[in-house]
Amino acid sequence: MTDLYDTLIVGGGPAGLTAALHLAWQKRTALVIDRVSGPLFFTLEQLWNVPGMPGATGAEIQKRLKAQAVEMGAGVVRGNVVKAEGTEGDFLLTGEKGERWRGRTLLLATGVIRYHPTVDGDFTPCFSYAGKGNLFYCTDCEGPELFGRDTVVIGTGPADWAADMGVALSRYTPKLRVLLAGGRDLSEPRAARLREKNIPVLTGEIQRLIGEKRELSGLELKDGTTITAEAFFVSSDARGRTDLARQLGVEMAPTGKHAQARSQRGDTNVPGVWIAGDLRPMTQQVAVAMGTGNIAAVMIDQHLRKGDVASPPSPAAI
Ligand SMILES: Cc1cc2nc3c(=O)[nH]c(=O)nc-3n(C[C@H](O)[C@H](O)[C@H](O)COP(=O)(O)OP(=O)(O)OC[C@H]3O[C@@H](n4cnc5c(N)ncnc54)[C@H](O)[C@@H]3O)c2cc1C
Repeated sequence: MTDLYDTLIVGGGPAGLTAALHLAWQKRTALVIDRVSGPLFFTLEQLWNVPGMPGATGAEIQKRLKAQAVEMGAGVVRGNVVKAEGTEGDFLLTGEKGERWRGRTLLLATGVIRYHPTVDGDFTPCFSYAGKGNLFYCTDCEGPELFGRDTVVIGTGPADWAADMGVALSRYTPKLRVLLAGGRDLSEPRAARLREKNIPVLTGEIQRLIGEKRELSGLELKDGTTITAEAFFVSSDARGRTDLARQLGVEMAPTGKHAQARSQRGDTNVPGVWIAGDLRPMTQQVAVAMGTGNIAAVMIDQHLRKGDVASPPSPAAI
């Protein structure tokens, strides 16, 4: 018979590991299942806004959080959860290799999917630069990296989003251009805002990334032109990895892109299921992920405690 954990946590990023740490501290049996595809595993740039860890790289932050959770007694296993079912008291997760995990409660901390620009139809060339050098994605996290740098915003989604990002980034640098590599349909009000800020708009599909050692220096376009810059900022969509939440019947946020919590505590409409981190509709930040992971874990522990107090285990169950 598979062990019944107090809490199964899907996702071993900052949200899931922080939750595991608290639950293990409270002597709850907690297991983190993670397929190791979160952004920080691949982030070699230094992060400057994570409290208590100044200048640590994303990879170091991952390592430290995991080590602390494991040292406290949490389990962390590698696995890709493809199915979630059951109800409070006995949830069942199934991994892609047929693994099975059972838990009294569930925390989903599965993060978001980000869309990279495509390079001759393929997004993988961006992996050499994303989070490693000067290819940035998140204004809240990385905007201040741009101070004074000649920057190109790469619009992969709607043109108006790229325009909004260009205007937003103009507080960090006056040297900005917007490349519409996805949608080209720029509305007149957005075009006017860009003109006001002296931000030129370029269009074209990316054929090749030019750079070395994690530093991107230029974009070769399909029409043969090359755009060089000191920094590149991607404007794209980010959607929560909501597949497991949907399987369990967790409500989605009004945009449909993220799972919806019932309160700040991360509880959901499904009894026994909590959510944390980037999966929730809020800014994507390590400290926010840690905070929402922590509050969810505190609430799960309190919830389990109330259950323990209400119905003491019968001698047969001990
Ligand atoms: C390039 C880049 C730079 C960034 N820089 C900063 C910064 O400077 N400062 C800052 O505060 N934030 C930064 N961020 C944002 C930060 O990385 C995220 O906000 C944070 O990692 C979110 O934590 P999380 O635990 O919610 O999700 P994630 O870190 O995304 O972790 C989720 C985990 O869940 C796993 N998972 C998903 N589905 C399943 C499944 N079905 N089965 C098993 N495992 C699953 C994934 O593999 C992943 O490991 C950056 C992000 C990027 C992409």
